[in-house]
Amino acid sequence: MLRHDNGFALAGGSLLQFPIGRTRTAESGSGGSELVLVRPIPFHSLCERHLLSFHGVVHVGYLHGENQLDPAEFARIVQACSRGIQAQQRMTARIGLWLHHQLAPRGVGVLIEGEYACATAGRGAPTTTLAFYGSLRHSADGQREFVSLTRQEQKGIVRQ
Ligand SMILES: [Zn+2]
Repeated sequence: MLRHDNGFALAGGSLLQFPIGRTRTAESGSGGSELVLVRPIPFHSLCERHLLSFHGVVHVGYLHGENQLDPAEFARIVQACSRGIQAQQRMTARIGLWLHHQLAPRGVGVLIEGEYACATAGRGAPTTTLAFYGSLRHSADGQREFVSLTRQEQKGIVRQ
């Protein structure tokens, strides 16, 4: 009843969801990636099913396009999209779509990790949602690289 990880997928398959523990680390191969990882952005929201708080971090990665965005702009869009009552999956897609249109990158990926006050004891793992647009939408390698980078970032291995 309290589950959030029910395999939700948007029409078009742009949105995947998986328990964080099952994420596989991509084998390194391609040197010199152009994927730019934005510093993780924290958020707070209310889950639409139980009206209880959930919070977490939003990871954004993109391949440079024509536009530049100020770092503050990323935080601003996350704040705007997490306001009020939300479903994490929809929030992920909305942030990705906004960036896709405003930042006009060649590709963009959004990964959100949410922890839920309504989650029952023993299911402490964060819920992870993903959305990809642009060239990353159809690039399994690019998607793996993005997820891998966010995992490394979590462990404090890379990124400033
Ligand atoms: Zn809930």
